[in-house]
Amino acid sequence: MIHINKNYLKLQDSYLFSTIAKKVADYTTKNPDKKVIKLGIGDVTLPLANACVEAMKKAADEMGQKETFRGYGPEQGYDFLREKIVENDYKKRGVNIEKDEIFISDGAKCDTGNIGDIFGVENIIAITDPVYPVYLDTNVMAGRTGEYNKQNNKFDEVVYMPVTAENNFIPELPKEKVDMIYLCFPNNPTGTVLTKAELKKWVDYAKREKAIILYDSAYEAFIQEENVPHTIFEVEGAKEVAIEFRSFSKTAGFTGTRCGYVVIPKELKVEEVVNGQKIEVSINNLWNRRQCTKFNGVSYITQKGAEAVYTEEGQKQIKENINYYMENAKIISEGLKEAGYEIFGGKNAPYIWLKVPKQYTSWEFFDYLLENANVVGTPGAGFGPSGEGYFRLTAFGTRENTKEAIERIKNLK
Ligand code: PLP
Repeated sequence: MIHINKNYLKLQDSYLFSTIAKKVADYTTKNPDKKVIKLGIGDVTLPLANACVEAMKKAADEMGQKETFRGYGPEQGYDFLREKIVENDYKKRGVNIEKDEIFISDGAKCDTGNIGDIFGVENIIAITDPVYPVYLDTNVMAGRTGEYNKQNNKFDEVVYMPVTAENNFIPELPKEKVDMIYLCFPNNPTGTVLTKAELKKWVDYAKREKAIILYDSAYEAFIQEENVPHTIFEVEGAKEVAIEFRSFSKTAGFTGTRCGYVVIPKELKVEEVVNGQKIEVSINNLWNRRQCTKFNGVSYITQKGAEAVYTEEGQKQIKENINYYMENAKIISEGLKEAGYEIFGGKNAPYIWLKVPKQYTSWEFFDYLLENANVVGTPGAGFGPSGEGYFRLTAFGTRENTKEAIERIKNLK
């Protein structure tokens, strides 16, 4: 008799974006004359940089010619892209990463979700609360958590690290023993970043506790301030304890094109006892084995598009787009402050995390904004229990909509 993976039954329905979509659909059906502005979901609105489009067109032409056609590519990604990453994302920041420590993928969602394949189910995971939901749900699927506890809205056997205004949205080192620590900076949803000194505490902790840090740096390109590390590998010793996830999605508008990468240094080794014998296992080798078995690489055309991000023209164009979004972030932050809201984030990240007025829960505030300003955001409670009392607005809208949304919110008061 066939059995299912019962861990899937532990999953809580992700009500967040479907509930938002339903509420917005109900509202617009009842109020067809209202123009609803969506600053909720984290998708980009600007088109791909022209340099990327042209590179992909050229690559598509190559695929149509006998002489330049390519079939299966390397599972780890083409060297031309891995080399550009080594040079631009690491060497220019003083970090030495080798080409075979980089694995090109179809995005950070898949990578952060799949990485669990190579780690034991007995490991204890630590996540921030609130958090990008993929880290938690993929561990539930893998059986690395207990049951969902309705009393505290948390999964048993998971270490939640609250990040709230009380600790400046900086997680404290866990008091319990943990093995896999998920960190995301610049953070979704709070928009927080860590300084190098703060990040070093985590690297030291992981070394001491023989834990691993899974560092999601999908929003690295939005860092504006000095003294904010662009990669965890700027921290001494991080190569022995960390895996870094990167994405072209928000950096270069690849949310629909799909390309990202993961960096697994060769220094990252785990001691394991097999048949009574202590062995040292290379995580890079393990992931390579996993990818070669389960993944057939990202298309040549897409990787050519990603490569163009690193050309002079590509860099100029993606920076213009990032500046555009960060200008939106400024408009949101300043407008909300003027309207009397307490706000966080928005300086090194495309997310503004605001404190919901005391009389509302985050879902009640969602309804209030939808009905009174026709603006859609994301209730903090959707990202974890400690997100209650907060609300996320994104800077990924158009300038016109962003300005109008903020004017409407200001006029509410
Ligand atoms: N990591 C974080 C923190 C995100 O917010 C997102 C997308 O919103 C992703 C990863 C997914 O990135 P990708 O589009 O590369 O799968």
